[in-house]
Amino acid sequence: MEGSNKLTRNIILALILGLVFGFVLNIFAPSVFKIVDPYILYPLGTIFLNLIKMLVVPLVFISITLGVAGLGDPQKLGRIGAKTIGYFLVTTTIAISLAIGIGYAMKPGVGGSFDTSSANFEATEAPSFIDTLLDVIPTNPIEAMTTGNMLQMITFAVFIGLALAVLGDKTKGILKLFEQGNEIMMYLVNVVMKTAPAGAFALIASAVGKQGWEAFKVMGMYFIAVLLALILHAILVYGSTVSLFGKMSPIKFFKGFAPAMSVAFSTSSSSATLPVSMETAQKTLGVPKSISSFVQPLGATINMDGTAIMQGVATVFIAQVYGVDLSISQLLMVVLTAVLASIGTAGVPGVGLIMLAMVLKSVNLPVEGIALIIGIDRLLDMTRTAVNTAGDAACAVMVAETEKKHQSSEESLSA
Ligand code: ASP
Repeated sequence: MEGSNKLTRNIILALILGLVFGFVLNIFAPSVFKIVDPYILYPLGTIFLNLIKMLVVPLVFISITLGVAGLGDPQKLGRIGAKTIGYFLVTTTIAISLAIGIGYAMKPGVGGSFDTSSANFEATEAPSFIDTLLDVIPTNPIEAMTTGNMLQMITFAVFIGLALAVLGDKTKGILKLFEQGNEIMMYLVNVVMKTAPAGAFALIASAVGKQGWEAFKVMGMYFIAVLLALILHAILVYGSTVSLFGKMSPIKFFKGFAPAMSVAFSTSSSSATLPVSMETAQKTLGVPKSISSFVQPLGATINMDGTAIMQGVATVFIAQVYGVDLSISQLLMVVLTAVLASIGTAGVPGVGLIMLAMVLKSVNLPVEGIALIIGIDRLLDMTRTAVNTAGDAACAVMVAETEKKHQSSEESLSA
């Protein structure tokens, strides 16, 4: 069996074993779980998470710089940038609309016995839209790197990449340095991925063991509604993107991208998954490095269809539990704020739930309602993160294919 296939098989196997192990401990031996979790599962999972997180900042900086330098002219960058951001906005809007539709069709918040009296959730203030936009430019790029501020880092890397492209021969030494740095990062991604099965087992067993069965029993309908929306969105939207615009069969896409999705699933972090998702898109899906290096880090930062889906279903759910009827204009408001909220959601575990406060506030729903879904969110976070990363990869496949025609016309022009 080929190396990457074997790794995917091992990760998936580890996930299933972890799931069963977590459930069994949660139901039959909670006292054993209390010992196994802090001394075995938690350290094992954290080692894996930290190892991949260690690579994120240097990898994103190096690969975006190289990606932009490789694209060469600013016009091409503008075209790819517009296509990428346009795609992100359209698919996120579809995602949230689908989620609202499913929320209304399945009515997860109607008829259950939800205890809203003890619901307690403190919302933090979301930054204003203008501040979010202004904040994209780092006043101190080194600080952006040390604090892991992805958007600021991306902006800085785009500038450096442009400068490298314009200066050409004058800076070829630095370009070489970046290329070699990239080799090192890719090598390290492969090394770290060898620990993925153990990490995936520990992370899922810990999550399921902690929040398992009880949370699921009460929140089953909500859980199923979010899951259904996620699966439908992935199959319909990403399936048609890759087959219509990417000339790739959806089966090849999902099979090829499975290793990255399983890492996203175990880590619940798009940004921690980035090293793996880029490598998988380049090696297995054949996306050129320059495109993958630009589209995927940007996507891991601003494109979160899975998160938008959770926010859509959660909003409808909370409205139903509290007996609030949302008007059409309120629903449109939900679509708009959920798109913004998912752009503002960082690719780390659990942030989507915090950003949900912004969506609820926009239509005056009680923010405390979030407390109802916290219990089940860890498991949904895993699934939506897998969808978040698949969305970025589908976009990369689409951009790669549609850029081919420009490439051939550019080549014939320069001939
Ligand atoms: N965990 C998600 C991600 O990293 C974000 C979220 O929805 O909480 O993509």
